[in-house]
Amino acid sequence: MSIGKVFLVGAGPGDPGLLTLRAAELIAHADFIAIDALVSDAIADRVPATAEVVYVGKRASKHALPQEKINQLLIDEAKKGKTVVRLKGGDPFVFGRGGEEAEELVAAGVAFEIVPGISSSLAGPAYAGIPVTHRSYATSLTLVTGHESDASTGIKWEALAQLDGTIVFLMGFANLPMIARKLTENGVSSDRPVAVISKATTRDQRTVIGTLATIEAKVSEASLPTPALIVVGEVVRLHDVINWFETKPLFGKRIVVTRAREQASELKRLFEESGASVVQFPTIEIAPPESYESLDAAVDGRFDWLVFTSVNGVSAFFERLFAKGKDVRALAGARIACVGETTAAALRAHGLVPDLVPEKFMSTALIPRFDADQKGVRIAVIRAAEGRDEFIDEMRRRGAEVHLAVAYRTIPVAANAEELHDIDVVTFTSASTVDNFFAATKVDLNGTLLASIGPTTSDAIRKHGRQPDIESPTASIQALHDAVVHAEARRRGGKLPPPLCGSA
Ligand code: SAH
Repeated sequence: MSIGKVFLVGAGPGDPGLLTLRAAELIAHADFIAIDALVSDAIADRVPATAEVVYVGKRASKHALPQEKINQLLIDEAKKGKTVVRLKGGDPFVFGRGGEEAEELVAAGVAFEIVPGISSSLAGPAYAGIPVTHRSYATSLTLVTGHESDASTGIKWEALAQLDGTIVFLMGFANLPMIARKLTENGVSSDRPVAVISKATTRDQRTVIGTLATIEAKVSEASLPTPALIVVGEVVRLHDVINWFETKPLFGKRIVVTRAREQASELKRLFEESGASVVQFPTIEIAPPESYESLDAAVDGRFDWLVFTSVNGVSAFFERLFAKGKDVRALAGARIACVGETTAAALRAHGLVPDLVPEKFMSTALIPRFDADQKGVRIAVIRAAEGRDEFIDEMRRRGAEVHLAVAYRTIPVAANAEELHDIDVVTFTSASTVDNFFAATKVDLNGTLLASIGPTTSDAIRKHGRQPDIESPTASIQALHDAVVHAEARRRGGKLPPPLCGSA
């Protein structure tokens, strides 16, 4: 049996990007994980299905355990030989009781390691554009618990008031009025700037700025949710200058991505980079074809043209090709056409440079690119079972021998409309996602912008009686993202953007 060990791990303040490599590695390999209330969902979601998880703390109260029980649990599990991770918000030793837990582990003779985390006390101010020290404004930083800051606690208000540096209060939100009063009573100017940062480093972060005199009123007006921390000091003035996070182009926007989960990650990443919170609402799922017969015929056959209409088609085609022990040399001689820049990129990733990529993301855009006379030309079209037939019909009319290779199916998935509230933008990356979205949900989309990746998708939106508000000028995920950013910038400019699509 391996020797068990407990890792007291800091999970950082919320943004999963602020998890350390060490923490991520330990989470991925833990047998047993105890998760604190302050650990963000985005991080809790990383816990592998193989690990046993207990939620300790108020968030999931049915599992909540008193501190002694938690300690005992960690010790028991480690003694069974397990790798135990005790995951805590921020840093385990910054007002995190990590010290007490480590003492208990020492007393119990259990091996342990400490994995520091990025503390909210540093990251919160940083994400609010407030440097905790600055040569012109603060030469010291003091971290203080605001938890029990009445006269009976050990906080030396007089000493605190004499520091000209920055003071960060954790656990002090409920006591904000008292903190402001104590500092002013002890001689700090009531003009001293104060920031309260709520849900720091998450997409719900909000910062309220005031002075010791005004902050209480400002905060209650803003009805900020917890967790929140308080920064007192001249450095707070820099918020207006450096405020970089809450000013991201899509900050605070809720954007729905309707792509199949398998394909959503790049669009999700781009929107999140721009500050949006992304609601995944996959309406379709990619499923294998009913039969591989027609796809295999394309893989084995000799064609003058191979036409790919999607990344999925490319992946399925190569899967079958490789499964047969072949590689791209089997395609020598065929010319390659594809629809969409991402499809082209997928082909390039497989070592094929497409000969023909029309500007518009629609298979009909291929038609004018083919000669009027297609007599005897053999064309294989690799696509989903469901798709538009115009190109195929037209090539047949021109005399081509067209083979439809069904590479996959898109099937609707049961939708969960619960998260579809306060939506700012819904993005559609194909006509089928549009149809499935409107079939799956009857949510009120008043004031919601509908964004489409191209003309075919826009047409599908119109068929449902809506006008697309945004249409990507080119059929790529990046262009769709950029079009949404552009529209949002215009909306922030005061008025609703005129539709970017020419035909609307
Ligand atoms: N060990 C943690 C602090 C635990 S004490 C750390 O290093 O961050 C809990 C207090 O931390 C909360 O009351 C709040 O003041 C602060 N806090 C933790 N996460 C926060 C967040 N994301 N935003 C704002 N404050 C946070």
